[in-house]
Amino acid sequence: MKVLKFGGTSVGSAARMKDVAKLICDGDQKIVVLSAMSGTTNSLVEISDYLYKNNTAGALERINALEKRYYDVTEELYATVEYKVEATTVLKSHFEYLRSFSKSIFTLFEEKAILAEGELLSTTIFQLYLKEKGESSALLPALEFMRIDKNAEPDTSFIAGSLAKQLIAQPDKVIYITQGFICRNFYGEIDNLQRGGSDYSASLIGAAVKATEIQIWTDIDGMHNNDPRFVEGTKPVPVLHFEEAAELAYFGAKILHPTCILPAKLNNIPVRLLNTMEPKAPGTLISTQSKKGKIEAVAAKDGITAIKIKSGRMLLAHGFLRKVFEIFESYHTPIDMVTTSEVGVSVSIDNAKRLDEIVNELKKFGTVSVDKEMVIVCVVGDMHFDNVGFQAKVVGAMSEIPIRMISYGGSNYNISFLIKAKDKKRALNSLSKALFN
Ligand code: ASP
Ligand code: MG
Repeated sequence: MKVLKFGGTSVGSAARMKDVAKLICDGDQKIVVLSAMSGTTNSLVEISDYLYKNNTAGALERINALEKRYYDVTEELYATVEYKVEATTVLKSHFEYLRSFSKSIFTLFEEKAILAEGELLSTTIFQLYLKEKGESSALLPALEFMRIDKNAEPDTSFIAGSLAKQLIAQPDKVIYITQGFICRNFYGEIDNLQRGGSDYSASLIGAAVKATEIQIWTDIDGMHNNDPRFVEGTKPVPVLHFEEAAELAYFGAKILHPTCILPAKLNNIPVRLLNTMEPKAPGTLISTQSKKGKIEAVAAKDGITAIKIKSGRMLLAHGFLRKVFEIFESYHTPIDMVTTSEVGVSVSIDNAKRLDEIVNELKKFGTVSVDKEMVIVCVVGDMHFDNVGFQAKVVGAMSEIPIRMISYGGSNYNISFLIKAKDKKRALNSLSKALFN
């Protein structure tokens, strides 16, 4: 069985939903994971923000505007009055539920319940559309099988067990529709897999049912070999290794959420990135295969801060790195890149919220300097150290760019550079010129 995930823009209007229905109704049994209609989750965040601020009028105004949009979609989506009425009744109850929050105290718990409404709405109206079309389908409520544990990690055995039960209970349906993003937490409360988490849902579901393939449908024809917002003439990469895709997703390729790779990789399930606007395009296939010796793609991650700690005491000492890393750990700040020398260490972080406290503590161990507004440029491909010459090619392409850090050897799949944000466009373009033209 395949798992297909459609993102917010792919279900962003009645017309797009009709396109998705055409794509999925081919007689093959499948699980279809949907995001909220584009813009919905952002609206729900805004509504929550008004409720946090006790501005009921502001929240109600936003709720009414959102409701209007859904009624318009309903009007266009269904052919018959019967289904329009049925959809309207369902929508009414969801929007009444949203309005009910204006009367209660508002905490993170309520916010998460509100955020879950986007996917509940999109899947309900979409499945109703399939029903009207006479397609065999069923709704699998994600809140009954998708669960995270105390550490906010997916509870994979619970997910597999409960999903199997739901599927066994209705074995002859052809299309199973479910919600991306939403789940319950350890305490049974409504929760989510973080913004953009529908890709993660699809991958977890794929792993749970041992799917033959996970397809992520968006509105671009696969993962591109460079960032199309900064470089002209980028091309989709046909084949990527799981590790290459994970690096690219983490370091800036917006098409895929980075968390999505791991469950697929652990269960060796290929992930295909496809385009709803151009369904025949080959897209990108992510699996255990990679092209031997090939540099595949470049991505960049903005908003990076570099921190250097230099200490005479590091010379021949042990335990220095541990002390440095412990400080970052105690402020819950993940480190992206690390480079070391005998007398110092440089690290990069993308979350600078606790920077001042971190720097303060680091000063106990050495001289600290900070560079802000940096960018990580990550070059990805088959870079096993036995392949010769690729470093020279990549570094050569960067010969005009001031480089703060270089990192290679952490995996066989990437070389990363830390550069100033203002040099990013120049770096991406010169890498494209040297590597892909
Ligand atoms: N609807 C959620 C969001 O906008 C999840 C997703 O689309 O992946 O973040
Ligand atoms: Mg997404």
